[in-house]
Amino acid sequence: MGAAQRRFKSRSSRITSCSSGNRLGAADQEQKGDSPALTIYNQQFAVVRQKLPLALRSGVNHLQVTDITAHLEPDSVILRSIDTGRHLQILEQNYRNDPVSQQLLLSLYEGKTIDFLETDKDGTARTVQGAFGEIGTSDEITTDERKMLRAVGKAHVRTGLPIFSHTANGKAAIEQLDIFQGEGVDVNHLVIGHMCCYFDPNPWRQVHAAIAKRGAYVGFDRVGGEQAEADKARVEMVLAFLEGGYENRALIASDFSFRTSSKRGGGNGVARAVTEFVPMLRERGVKDDVLQRILVDNPRRFLAFVPKNA
Ligand SMILES: [Zn+2]
Repeated sequence: MGAAQRRFKSRSSRITSCSSGNRLGAADQEQKGDSPALTIYNQQFAVVRQKLPLALRSGVNHLQVTDITAHLEPDSVILRSIDTGRHLQILEQNYRNDPVSQQLLLSLYEGKTIDFLETDKDGTARTVQGAFGEIGTSDEITTDERKMLRAVGKAHVRTGLPIFSHTANGKAAIEQLDIFQGEGVDVNHLVIGHMCCYFDPNPWRQVHAAIAKRGAYVGFDRVGGEQAEADKARVEMVLAFLEGGYENRALIASDFSFRTSSKRGGGNGVARAVTEFVPMLRERGVKDDVLQRILVDNPRRFLAFVPKNA
């Protein structure tokens, strides 16, 4: 997958507070209802009063508030309880407003588990954990890549997060597996990716079977009709894999990474693995119950895990 670099502002305020109450907010008679109140002054200053519903436990709480203006004067932030009967004390308060860079993310989060905030269709936000995706190596695995695979393996053992690897068109797949297993990775949550690009004269049958026999998933993850000739060969690969009895270790996807692959960009769209490739398998006699296992049961099993506290 190609990496696109984006530059954006990270605006968050981290507050460590001590509380014996459970509902806090900025109390002000000017603020009606729950919408923020704004008082504008000369010289481009404004005071914002905003209620923040916070679920606090008794004792020390760590709170993080995001989606805050980039033009905040950090010293001016005051948090106080609406409920005057509650005791609230701010122990420590930090405000970050630095442009996000690879270096900054590393310095902030190295060695830590990061959660993602996802918004449902109905607007409900929830915290989800991610997965290690496109963990990649070159034709021959370099020293740094080896180090990175080991680090991801260790992080997987600590967190339980599933791993989806990137091979250079299927090369060094077994070596990837060796490194991951050497770190104690649970192969039930490991996909060796891009294996459908591993064409003859390479011995793809043996490599696919070897991965599956060791319990990891084989990613046939660049299918979907954009390279008609290659897809014909990929159908043969999947059929051979199924004939070998490995249907519970096959994963099918389309490695969507180019704008031109989108329907708007003239391609077959995000779902092309299912809309373009699956009918080719069906035409060759792959039954619906087998497809259900590959398309639904396998990804569900691969992705499901019990989060561990890192
Ligand atoms: Zn890749």
